[in-house]
Amino acid sequence: MKTAATVKKRVLLAAPEIPLSFWSFRETNRMMGAKTLLPPLGLITVAALLPREWELRLVDVNIRPIRESEWDWAEIVMLSAMLVQQRGMRALISEAKRRGKVVVAGGPYPSSVPGEVLAAGCDFLVQGEAELAMPQLVTALLEGSRGQVIASAERPPLNVSPVPRYDLLERGAYGCVSLQTSRGCPFDCEFCDVIHLYGRAPRYKSPEQFLAELAALQAWGWRGDVFVADDNFIGHKGHARALLEAMIPWMEAQGKPFSFITQASVNLGQDKEMIDLMTAANFGFVFLGVESPDEDVLKQAHKRQNLRDPLVESLRAINRNGITAIASFVLGLDGERSGAGRRIAALVETAGIPLVALNILQSLPNTALWERLRREGRLRELASGDTTGPRLNFVPSRPEAEVIDEYLALWDELYAPRRFYERAHRNVLEMRPTRRALGQALAPGGVDRAAWLKVPSGHRRGYWATLWRLFWRRAIFSRDGVVFWRLTWDVFRRNPSRLRRFLIICALGENLFPLRSLVRRQAAG
Ligand code: SF4
Repeated sequence: MKTAATVKKRVLLAAPEIPLSFWSFRETNRMMGAKTLLPPLGLITVAALLPREWELRLVDVNIRPIRESEWDWAEIVMLSAMLVQQRGMRALISEAKRRGKVVVAGGPYPSSVPGEVLAAGCDFLVQGEAELAMPQLVTALLEGSRGQVIASAERPPLNVSPVPRYDLLERGAYGCVSLQTSRGCPFDCEFCDVIHLYGRAPRYKSPEQFLAELAALQAWGWRGDVFVADDNFIGHKGHARALLEAMIPWMEAQGKPFSFITQASVNLGQDKEMIDLMTAANFGFVFLGVESPDEDVLKQAHKRQNLRDPLVESLRAINRNGITAIASFVLGLDGERSGAGRRIAALVETAGIPLVALNILQSLPNTALWERLRREGRLRELASGDTTGPRLNFVPSRPEAEVIDEYLALWDELYAPRRFYERAHRNVLEMRPTRRALGQALAPGGVDRAAWLKVPSGHRRGYWATLWRLFWRRAIFSRDGVVFWRLTWDVFRRNPSRLRRFLIICALGENLFPLRSLVRRQAAG
């Protein structure tokens, strides 16, 4: 009988193109010398599940195209895609099939709309999470069968999820790396596909597993930003606390090689103890789904967790205690009244949030929203997954032109550089000083004004390259240079330990200013 050990396969793992969006951070990547933001976490997890004897290569098309020699070498091509990568995945399937390769497709896009991906020509489609499906796929590949959908009936416990194969990634190509400690979210927001894809009962990796992944990243040579790609990092607070309590001494012992970014629900703002643990573990940014400033809209979207506490107070509490909130809003929700854009801008200004993800609602396949719109005859087409582009895939409950106009006006207003710098300035002045600076404030000698220069060793190159380019672009004679330098000086004077955070936020703004014209071009075209 053929076994994985006796029959070796050559597998090319390929990550399809991701279109430009809020999440690309293309300018910051350039400033840091990276080629794209995040590695394909799904693919490197799949790689770790394949037989050790098989030969693997990985190409991320967001870094470079696949070389002809790599196509020739491969027997099997494995692709993983989110909905936003659908066009790129279909293009790679047809290229691979043209060359006679066996093609395996998996990830959220094929799992959500398997019929479309099978029609594109893949030989195997892995529906759902890979951990339990992989043995069946390996057997099918060895037997040479085709045309199968491989799906496991259960969701895997995450203690069977291996350490991702970071070693397959191109070193130096990414601005940030990712890992995951949990999947699923206990909430049931009507528009969210996390519940369908990963369930409402969150599943977790143990603190030991998580530390093993951090150690693997460190061994691979990574220092810098790590994105904890959980659907909701505080979905189970007991679990989050256990992880953080394990991380804090580990990070101290290793000299704080990483700084973390994650996603969480807004109720984080009501849990000061959790925020403290997160900052002690070196979490600096958190992405929060605020969605709408209107209570009736949130109610209709089942986003009840955002109704329990005053939104502005929660956002300010997160910022005040040392984590920069990246707030996400969406236009086009049912029940939204005229002027929602203006109300979003007012909330953002009041809360002093510089980084705001602006989205147009897309109805994602298999969500409760999708089912409802389908029943109501309002669905138009499959979502592209690109929520930065100004296009609704359904008939909204108020005039569409009004939604798009408000969306475009919001981009213009929030990402006018001057307004952005002023929000960033207010944001860091409200933030408590860093832990280190708090310690110094109690000691004789006072505050260390050079703290912004003292960057942990592994972060230095990217930090200085980024700052150099930021300073160059915002030179004193540039249009917004005077404001930038005045506010920089003010942060240096009044909250010096947060000057580094201010500069990082300003560097992130460099991605968002040009997106205004891209969004306008897309609306026109
Ligand atoms: S809180 Fe976030 S992840 Fe959870 S269901 Fe709502 S939108 Fe989805």
